Amino acid sequence: MPFSRTARPTARAALRDARPVPLWLDAPDRPAPQPSLEGHVQADLAVVGAGFTGLWTALLAKQADPQRDVVVLEAGRVGHAASGRNGGFCSASLTHGLANGSERFGAELPRLLDLGRENLAGMRADLAAHGVDCGFEPVGDLVAATDPHHVDELQELRQLAETHGEAVTWLDRDAVRALVASPRYLAGLQSDGETALVDPARLAWGLAAACRRLGVRIHEGTAVTRLERHGAGLRLSSAGGAVTAGRAILATNAFPPLLRRLRHYVVPVYDYVLATAPLPADVRRSLGWSGRQGISDAGNQFHYYRLTADDRVVFGGYDAVYYRGNGFGADREQRPASFELLAEHLVETFPQLEGTPITHAWGGAIDTCTRFTAFWGTAFGGRLAYVAGYTGLGVGASRFGARVALDLLTGRPTELTRLEMVRTRPLPFPPEPLRGIGIDLMRWSLDRADRHGGRRNLWLRALDRVGLGFDS
Ligand SMILES: Cc1cc2nc3c(=O)[nH]c(=O)nc-3n(C[C@H](O)[C@H](O)[C@H](O)COP(=O)(O)OP(=O)(O)OC[C@H]3O[C@@H](n4cnc5c(N)ncnc54)[C@H](O)[C@@H]3O)c2cc1C
Repeated sequence: MPFSRTARPTARAALRDARPVPLWLDAPDRPAPQPSLEGHVQADLAVVGAGFTGLWTALLAKQADPQRDVVVLEAGRVGHAASGRNGGFCSASLTHGLANGSERFGAELPRLLDLGRENLAGMRADLAAHGVDCGFEPVGDLVAATDPHHVDELQELRQLAETHGEAVTWLDRDAVRALVASPRYLAGLQSDGETALVDPARLAWGLAAACRRLGVRIHEGTAVTRLERHGAGLRLSSAGGAVTAGRAILATNAFPPLLRRLRHYVVPVYDYVLATAPLPADVRRSLGWSGRQGISDAGNQFHYYRLTADDRVVFGGYDAVYYRGNGFGADREQRPASFELLAEHLVETFPQLEGTPITHAWGGAIDTCTRFTAFWGTAFGGRLAYVAGYTGLGVGASRFGARVALDLLTGRPTELTRLEMVRTRPLPFPPEPLRGIGIDLMRWSLDRADRHGGRRNLWLRALDRVGLGFDS
């Protein structure tokens, strides 16, 4: 049965005392801010943005060449944006999942899968080497069928996974409910080893601390307002100063981009999340879920959910909201209608959680592109590289995104820069008002498909044929 479209008063009541901030960032030991940039400094490499992409860029650059002088400029605080407000699902997938990878990069997929697994293993090794404690739990993931038509779709995914050597386990209705006690589950596909869970804010803070120990200078509260050529390098200006650097990397994700061309390829899509209070022991036991897998359900509009170290449930997704004209900003991070619907769906998934208070409710912008995977490019004659477009799966892929961006800056072809995924770009979104109209029509069609046995209407089929998509 599809999830409800409205919330009952009890679901709304659970939100009464929710704090309007991401659970992960609401920590008493959040590191103090680094000073903003004052005056004029020089560097070999300047990085714009201190989310995962920018921080991995700085760390990997320093690891490769400890003498390289690296500066990171961050408009807000380290990890305050998508990197500190996501679900913390750290997937090996570089392609927003296997099905998307297979559709878009068929011939190259085996190599991309290997690179993704290497990336996750490399990430784990880097975190250990730098003492980054972000609660990395290699618990795998479970996709749950909550509607009869999902069962066939999951069987197709199972075949695809097995073709590509992924260790997956099929769970029928009884088996999946024995694993995680949800009365909505009709079947499940469990995958081991391809997904870890992390506390994303601690990952960002830990990476920033590791960067600083290696000598990277990080300036918070420093919005870069202008990028221009300067001699053989670039000049990056902010309100308080400027950096002249030989090379620069733009890691600004869904934010209004400093390079105008990126506006055609990325739209900010807001995704909303709740966290419950830590569950009392009896309620926690009633869920089963002893493997602590990251879970998502299989609809077009899907939920993702997980347990935290202190046994809260973090529950997000479903609504993916585009605000016309690439609408962006802190005022979009609270959306009561989405929170109420999530609170309702949480209890529909786990009736055991009826009455459990929700302590945090927040939103964040996802950098959606039409192919749902990162894309890269250079500007200013190769002095600047950028990466964006991870769509909702950038926690793991951002490390790979950073590696490729650093390779692009060398100007020499490498195994990574020769990949089709790196050489090609997504189709651009049309300009407004067509952009907004098209996205609204797509969201409406996806909701309709979810409520009508997964059947895709003419509009979705037409977009499928040209490879234009919308996802979170
Ligand atoms: C609600 C939500 C849930 C998600 N769940 C998952 C998940 O479970 N798993 C997963 O893999 N992915 C998930 N994602 C996506 C994932 O969080 C992102 O792909 C990833 O964090 C991208 O990292 P980033 O560094 O590229 O971007 P960000 O973390 O957004 O960092 C960009 C930084 O650039 C800075 N910046 C922008 N413009 C400027 C400027 N002009 N000057 C200086 N600084 C600037 C910003 O302040 C920001 O800190 C989710 C995203 C959201 C929003």
